[in-house]
Amino acid sequence: MANYDPNNIFAKIIRGELPCHKVYEDARVLAFLDIMPRAPGHTLVLPKAAARNLLDIDAADLAHVAAVAQKIARAAMQACGADGITLQQFNEPAGGQVVFHLHFHVIPRQNGVAMKPPASVKEDDGVLREQARKLAAALAGA
Ligand code: 5GP
Repeated sequence: MANYDPNNIFAKIIRGELPCHKVYEDARVLAFLDIMPRAPGHTLVLPKAAARNLLDIDAADLAHVAAVAQKIARAAMQACGADGITLQQFNEPAGGQVVFHLHFHVIPRQNGVAMKPPASVKEDDGVLREQARKLAAALAGA
C-alpha cells in the first residue's frame, strides 16, 4: 500500500486550504457534501488525522468516524426526507478509492430512485449550500 499523501484534496480541505460545504465538525472529524453527489445530501465523513483508508486508520478514529456517520445518517433521514441511507467506503484503487484520505459516503436514498454514477455531475454551489445548511441544522437539533 502506498504512503499517505498530505497533499491529497481532502487533506487540503481539512487544513482549510480549499473550500467545502461543511455539515459537521468536531476535534477529530470533518463532514462535508460531495461536490458530485450520487443523490441529494451525499455527505463525506472524514477523520482529521492522516489515514489513507480503512487499512491504516487508528481504530479509535475509525470508531469515532463511524459514530459521526451514524449521526449524519439519522439527520439526513429528516433533513433530506430520505427513505433510506446507503453507506459506502472504498479502499485502494482496486477497491474503487479515488481520493486517498479515508472517508465514508453517507448517501440519502429515496424509494425507487437510482443513485447517479460516481463523479458524474458537479452540483450547483447554491444547492449544496442549502443542503449543508439543512443537514447542519438537523444535526444541531434545530
Ligand atoms: P472515492 O475515493 O470514495 O471513490 O470517491 C471520492 C469522492 O470525492 C467522489 O464521490 C467525488 O465526487 C468526491 N470529490 C472529489 N473531489 C472533491 C472535492 O474537491 N470536493 C468534494 N467535496 N468532493 C470531492
